[in-house]
Amino acid sequence: MAKEHPTLHLPKNARLTKGSQKVLEALTSCRSLATAQDIHGQLRDKGDAPGLTTVYRSLEALVAMGLVQAVELGDGEKRFEIVEPGAHHHHLVCENCRDSIHLDQCLVEELDAGIRTKYGFEIRAHILEIFGRCKKCQ
Ligand SMILES: [Zn+2]
Ligand SMILES: [Zn+2]
Ligand SMILES: [Zn+2]
Repeated sequence: MAKEHPTLHLPKNARLTKGSQKVLEALTSCRSLATAQDIHGQLRDKGDAPGLTTVYRSLEALVAMGLVQAVELGDGEKRFEIVEPGAHHHHLVCENCRDSIHLDQCLVEELDAGIRTKYGFEIRAHILEIFGRCKKCQ
């Protein structure tokens, strides 16, 4: 059920700014979900950091392009990771060690379809993360 952290598959027609390229590179070497601060810190350690504002803007652009997904873990800080273009997935988040397991599929596509039929509601996006304790922490 869990899968490896996705690697980068950049569409050939993707046009990226320098900032976005750097942010993507930083995300590629992140093993887990990264905040904008994490990404900025990593780039700064390499002596190659755009400003934090640029990092935020690049992340927004990459999310809009479908290359990166933003994840909300309920603590008010967005985290980011690379996804297959246009794809998304959900996480099991351990509240003790904050480790997150990447699920290999969307769990609520059928629910979306049901809501569309029942309420005539046009769904743009959904957020779903599952919180609890991982095996190690139980
Ligand atoms: Zn844990
Ligand atoms: Zn993930
Ligand atoms: Zn989903």
